[in-house]
Amino acid sequence: MKNEIAIDIEQAAAFLDLSPSRFSELLDKKVIRQNWDQYNNIFRFTSRVSDIDAGSVLLDNDDSFELVRGFPKIRRAMLIEPAIQANFSDNATVVVEEKMNGYNVRVLSYKGKLIALTRSGHVCPYSTERAQNLLNKHFFEEYPDIVVYGEMAGPENPYVRKDIYDIESLDFFVFDMRRKNDGIALPISERRMLAGKYGFRQVELFGEFGIPEAASKIGDIIRELGKKGHEGVIIKDPNMVLQPIKYTCSESNCADLQHAFKFYNEAGRDYIYSRVIREGFQSAEWNETEEELMERCLRLGESILRPMRESIKEVQQGTRVADESRIRVKDKKTISEFKFYLERLGLDIVFSPARKVGDDYIVDIKKINNSTSDKTLGIIRGQLWS
Ligand code: ATP
Ligand code: MG
Repeated sequence: MKNEIAIDIEQAAAFLDLSPSRFSELLDKKVIRQNWDQYNNIFRFTSRVSDIDAGSVLLDNDDSFELVRGFPKIRRAMLIEPAIQANFSDNATVVVEEKMNGYNVRVLSYKGKLIALTRSGHVCPYSTERAQNLLNKHFFEEYPDIVVYGEMAGPENPYVRKDIYDIESLDFFVFDMRRKNDGIALPISERRMLAGKYGFRQVELFGEFGIPEAASKIGDIIRELGKKGHEGVIIKDPNMVLQPIKYTCSESNCADLQHAFKFYNEAGRDYIYSRVIREGFQSAEWNETEEELMERCLRLGESILRPMRESIKEVQQGTRVADESRIRVKDKKTISEFKFYLERLGLDIVFSPARKVGDDYIVDIKKINNSTSDKTLGIIRGQLWS
């Protein structure tokens, strides 16, 4: 039985362990949504359904189905020591890896080619081209039932642009491998061994630490990462059975605030508030000296005030505040595909004409922030806050 969107409802429902009527209802309510164009036999979950997370993807291969699990939410430690004690008390050790600041991508083989899924389960054309150029596809032929999870990081990044790594463009750093369907993760040593064997770049491994010493080791790692402007760490169970937890550097929290306050009228209140709270807990846990505390106060204050003042000045001088980024592609077609993709997602963006640099094409992308520009302009003209 095929319906108008050409998926066999009974078989798909049975595969997901749902009743056919429930599956139909989820399609109608757009909880399960079909992807576009050449990917129209890929369906993404826009919210959680029983034990299937949002961002999971159902692949309809005509004669069979596959489920690619969404990347599970990683909870945050506010105080390192008690968080490790409470979350990993049954373990002898934890593994600490670098948390890289980019965007989350899942790579798998689809009809003989690699595709890259974003956290929401869309097939991103830019990330897909990158994955195809960066990753050894023999891995995916050898292990067709494994999905590779990683962070796309670097300066030529349309989502999270960062110049903090020694990367020229945009690279893919593997941090997880999970089986299709049940989503079970490979133990860390096995994942790192496989990634190494196939030449994938990986997130940095800081080590495996005994529970009693872990908090102080992580404190040292975080201070060093902070000096380089890096984001933080993920603390993991070596067997990947217990859920990992994340912890970030003050400098990275402040970099987030700096970006948020540039677009002060758009940034979510929770996003801003939670980053300020983190600073309070870190300062308390580290028993900072008066001097260290003053440094933190200055860093936090500057990250709030400077970007806001700059935005206001910019609007006063007649410009509109904008978020700028850049992409680099090998195939010119990827540019129009990516533009079309962002427009379909409802983003208001401007692409510059492509410049040829060596074998690549570079395009500058501008996302105008109307909300902050308009609000500021209004205030400049005498509008009151409320
Ligand atoms: P979450 O819902 O998982 O908390 P978030 O969107 O709030 O995610 P972050 O605060 O950036 O995101 O933290 C989780 C993200 O960190 C993951 O989705 C992943 O993309 C990224 N990440 C970077 N490095 C690692 C790593 N070594 N291990 C796991 N995840 C990593
Ligand atoms: Mg992130």
